[in-house]
Amino acid sequence: MHDWHHLIREVTDFPRPGIRFSDITPLLADARGLAAAIDAMAAPWRGSGIDAVAGIESRGFIIGSALALSLSAGFVPIRKPGKLPARTLHEDYALEYGRDRLEIHVDALQAGQRVLLVDDVLATGGTLIAGARLLQRLDVELVGVGVLVELEALDARERWPHADIALHAAVRF
Ligand code: AMP
Repeated sequence: MHDWHHLIREVTDFPRPGIRFSDITPLLADARGLAAAIDAMAAPWRGSGIDAVAGIESRGFIIGSALALSLSAGFVPIRKPGKLPARTLHEDYALEYGRDRLEIHVDALQAGQRVLLVDDVLATGGTLIAGARLLQRLDVELVGVGVLVELEALDARERWPHADIALHAAVRF
């Protein structure tokens, strides 16, 4: 297995003082590293019958579409406000740095479809909790949540409200 953890770069004081930003761009640029990271993210869900990967804007799109291909699943974008053209549902949430809103097309998925929710970094967990709420409002089966990086010091796992929905991180810092 190609070693890829060192390709995630920590940038201090971005986007504001006090934040240690996990920058995945060096990993994305490395062909073998990217393949190994996507493989590590896909491994827990192989054979789980995932119909679609739902990825959160914007780095969740990059990771999520690669993961969808790896799992032979479709891809559904969960976007920031005002970007999706058709009718949407929305959820508001708190970020590690600020507040935001997520939207999904009301017809993006069929009830009962098996969905994996994906983002690049799990920090406080607010983003993924809002994404999970959106998916549950569409009556899909949320099989699990996958992130590339979990920032353990922020204790998102303690806040994750769904004991029955597995949360998998490919690497923890
Ligand atoms: P949270 O809702 O706090 O779990 O934040 C997760 C979202 O914000 C993800 O979409 C990340 O891309 C981004 N994010 C939050 N904190 C960081 C961080 N320290 N480094 C990189 N991305 C972060």
